[in-house]
Amino acid sequence: MTRRPVAQVIDTVQTLEGGGFPVRRPFPVAQLLQFDPFLLFDHLGPVTWGPGQGIGAPDHPHRGFETVTYLLSGEMQHKDSAGRSGTLRAGDVQWMTAGRGVVHSEMPTPEFQRSGGIMHGFQLWVNLPAKDKMMPPRYQDIPAAQIPEAMSADGKVKVRVIAGSALGKHAVIEVRTPIIYLHYTLRAGGETAQDIPADYNAMVYVIRGAAAVGDPQRDVREGQAALLGPGASVQLAAKTDTDVLVLAGVPLNEPVARHGPFVMNTAEEIQQAIRDYREGRMGQIA
Ligand code: FE
Repeated sequence: MTRRPVAQVIDTVQTLEGGGFPVRRPFPVAQLLQFDPFLLFDHLGPVTWGPGQGIGAPDHPHRGFETVTYLLSGEMQHKDSAGRSGTLRAGDVQWMTAGRGVVHSEMPTPEFQRSGGIMHGFQLWVNLPAKDKMMPPRYQDIPAAQIPEAMSADGKVKVRVIAGSALGKHAVIEVRTPIIYLHYTLRAGGETAQDIPADYNAMVYVIRGAAAVGDPQRDVREGQAALLGPGASVQLAAKTDTDVLVLAGVPLNEPVARHGPFVMNTAEEIQQAIRDYREGRMGQIA
């Protein structure tokens, strides 16, 4: 089995998102504009907010893709134009398929705002194939306790399986676009090899610590992403206590027309999305 090398180490770009919260973004950036089938990845925080200071993303629309929110610390509240709402706590995942469109808000909970605290998490945008872009919106809310976890025999490698499979455990999420989304926690000296099908685009993002990634090994540190070259697996080794995400997916190889929160295949479909939003056809939050 061929082991993937690191093709490129990408430094994240720091920016403000939503109502003005700080994120580190490995893509899309000038170094990496396309990472099919993904559209965007934001590492939110960790940021410490005092009471009443928490910042979220007030009402905004999405159409044509999925947003996957994974929280490590803090509490977020979600509301949408179909009357759905939910709370995301540390370790929880929300998988929202925007499909033909929703208007939603993603805000710190009132409890978080009262106490303040550390907000830390991720949002991944997964593109939908053309045939699924106008599907009815749906949610998969996966509380922390339901996310499969596995540990290596030596106890040095733990993995949380958000999508795909690792160390014999399979994700509970149903995906439209086949992807792998894994959170590895490696203790110093921990090592593992993760299978990634040869036709997937793949990267390793370092949340904390530093990892030797790929074959030959390349050092990748906190806030950097390693874009992987061709092969069927990736080697991970940690010199210090380290957390990484493995993100991989089958490229859709379809045209991408993109305008803010709308991602379609043609400019006409984008114009239609803008009209549908302005004329209220994606609804509003009651
Ligand atoms: Fe959103």
